[in-house]
Amino acid sequence: METQDHKEKTMKTGDYIEAVEQNVLHTYNRYPIVLEKGQGVYLYDSEGNKYLDFAAGIAVQSLGYGNRELNEAIKAQVDTLMHTSNLFYNEPIARAAKRAVKASGLARVFFTNSGTEAIEGAIKAARKYAYIRDGHTDHEIIAMENSFHGRSLGALSVTGNAHYRVPFEPLLPGIRFAVFNDLESVKRLVNEKTCAILMETVQGEGGIYPADPEFLKGVKALCEERDILLILDEIQCGMGRCGEMFAWQIYGVKPDIMTSAKAIGCGVPVGAFFLSERVAEKSLVPGDHGTTYGGNPLVGAAVDKVFEIFERENIPAHVREVGAYFTERLEELAADCEAVTARRGLGLMQGLELTVPVGEVVRKAQQQGLIVITAGNNVLRLVPPLIIEKEHVDEMMTKLKAALNS
Ligand SMILES: *Cc1c(COP(=O)(O)O)cnc(C)c1O
Repeated sequence: METQDHKEKTMKTGDYIEAVEQNVLHTYNRYPIVLEKGQGVYLYDSEGNKYLDFAAGIAVQSLGYGNRELNEAIKAQVDTLMHTSNLFYNEPIARAAKRAVKASGLARVFFTNSGTEAIEGAIKAARKYAYIRDGHTDHEIIAMENSFHGRSLGALSVTGNAHYRVPFEPLLPGIRFAVFNDLESVKRLVNEKTCAILMETVQGEGGIYPADPEFLKGVKALCEERDILLILDEIQCGMGRCGEMFAWQIYGVKPDIMTSAKAIGCGVPVGAFFLSERVAEKSLVPGDHGTTYGGNPLVGAAVDKVFEIFERENIPAHVREVGAYFTERLEELAADCEAVTARRGLGLMQGLELTVPVGEVVRKAQQQGLIVITAGNNVLRLVPPLIIEKEHVDEMMTKLKAALNS
């Protein structure tokens, strides 16, 4: 009976993989796993295998899987009203916006459908601000090498990875790349045309590099001196992941514009960009920007509930506590294991630099029942749901060690 069952499931797995490979454009090399269900911090595949999840769908599922309260809120909204367009007001987004703005410390929010679109909006707001101020349009933006901001043409233009950018050129003009954590390299690029400096507070895709406090503070001082807008991309590092609601709060360096996405909907596709009062008053006005779906009632219900749970459960405090233990255990591993040369990160956004092929470690971890992902060329990225406990860190360590030793 059990083997029969297993056979059917295996056939199903192959069918699903084949259906995707024959129909979906091949832009991803996927792992041969069909994920079927999630519960808490565990995922289950179509063959009944159980995985401890330290990837969270790329830092999205911060409340894990099957959160009753979040799921109920979303389901109730599905039955009430999913979409209205932005030509009308709706109640869920009113609640969500109030909570999001309060948590952000900024003044206004615009909801998008993804992180990429949040970056697009941030770039447009910065350009419009400079245009109103100066009356001309040839402004420049300084972005960082090794950064990642998304795949649309605008977001790609500010992404510091030539391999992603080059085939799609020409991209936006007036983008210059400085070296992350090198203040002098930023200063060298600043001129009278510079309207914004954009960076991730903690670089994610590039290999988990937190900003140095002196660097971020130096950039902020430069921005204030020259009326340049500081744009912080908190799409991956924000929403509690680093131990404060937003990573910039750890540094005490407030951006003029901030982008968010990934965990802001905990599985529902939504992003946002936030503006300070000064930028909001002198940038985008009716007719300048829009979106059909952005901030619809469905995502509003999710975002509202996510912020409510984060506040009530004080998720950032939990991240600080578990994150400290996580850091300690990873430091031990870096000291003991030859294949691990460095640990970097903040809170529950951690990276291990490896001397062995990181893709192989990821596959071996899967065989141990652990899901982890990569960042950059040689970094193992650990971005678990923020609700993990110390026991999950221990379980992860056991499985990761087994993967590294096999
Ligand atoms: C994921 C990510 C993006 C792009 O977000 P999408 O939702 O995939 O469009 C932008 N910036 C950072 C820092 C990211 O991690």
